[in-house]
Amino acid sequence: MHKIKSLHMKVKEITDAIESMAPLHLQESWDNAGMQVGNPNSEVTGILLCTDVREETVDEAIECGFNMIISHHPLLFRGLKKIVGRTYQERVVAKAIKHDITIYCAHTNMDSARGGVNFKMAEKLGLKNVSVLDPQQGTLLKVVVFVPMSHVTQVETAMCDAGAGHLGDYDHCSYKLEGMGQYRPLEGAHPFAGEVAELHSEPETRVEVLVNKALCGRVVAAMLKAHPYEEPAFDIIALENEDSYSGLGVIGDIEPQDAKDFLERVKTAFEVVTLRYSGDLDRRVSRIAMCGGAGAEFIGKALALGADVYITGDMKYHEFQGNEDRIILADIGHYESEHYTKEIFYDVIQKKNPNFAVDFAKSEKNQVKYI
Ligand SMILES: [Zn+2]
Repeated sequence: MHKIKSLHMKVKEITDAIESMAPLHLQESWDNAGMQVGNPNSEVTGILLCTDVREETVDEAIECGFNMIISHHPLLFRGLKKIVGRTYQERVVAKAIKHDITIYCAHTNMDSARGGVNFKMAEKLGLKNVSVLDPQQGTLLKVVVFVPMSHVTQVETAMCDAGAGHLGDYDHCSYKLEGMGQYRPLEGAHPFAGEVAELHSEPETRVEVLVNKALCGRVVAAMLKAHPYEEPAFDIIALENEDSYSGLGVIGDIEPQDAKDFLERVKTAFEVVTLRYSGDLDRRVSRIAMCGGAGAEFIGKALALGADVYITGDMKYHEFQGNEDRIILADIGHYESEHYTKEIFYDVIQKKNPNFAVDFAKSEKNQVKYI
């Protein structure tokens, strides 16, 4: 039986809560995270959580009176040209629309988020000193704006409320330096201070904030709205810095232990039936890297950061080869590595509203079987 509780929330309240932790701009360029089917303003009666949305998931939602499904993997990657029931995606979309069911997913944005898929994996193994394995690059900007002293707080707050100045566990981060601005208003100008045709000096503060590229338009618009000048002076500067708080995979430490014992623990922690590995089990391991889903592309990164073991899914035969003397590579299965993502959704919704009807889909199963 699923829990039935009566409190309602809007779809948007729930997706905002998820996206405040895993913003959509963190997703990979090829991804299609976010709303799949539905209306952000609908009232939600209950939420079913899953890894993949299938017809059985929609049937289960209908059966228990829940009208929202949240999955890790997107139902839709490419555009649907017809909805005539040929594929399971077409059938799921048709059934969801017919029964007013909203489908939403948080995919690579949740993979790259702090506290997301890979941090959940680290938690399952009790990793310490956890950091991102492959931090995002080219996503950070610095916005610098010169503000008359009387309006510094107003401008700074507007930018930070729009998403600037976020650094790990801190928000509203900024740097301020006082100085003197100068301008001469021309004919037709309406200066904040000073007279037309006269050179004017105004005490100004240089305010610097860090901004994710995806939020820059919003932050600059908020700054311009809050700034008292007709023509505010500001710089947008591209940074070479990595965003060490966002990216795929994690790396962390465990107490030194026998590799074989550790892999047995991995099997138990992720409910793995069969684990494929390469490397030497006759050694001690303490530095562990992992990436949920298909993460073979980060083997080099795991090696460079000194990992003894790298855990991921969907590894190909040749990807196991060439580093057997340096690292243990373990493929635990794509589904197995990510199925705990549902717990992240559960926690976000519980935190938002502890009495809301939310449950794990009982119809969910790994489509890949072992005999
Ligand atoms: Zn996946």
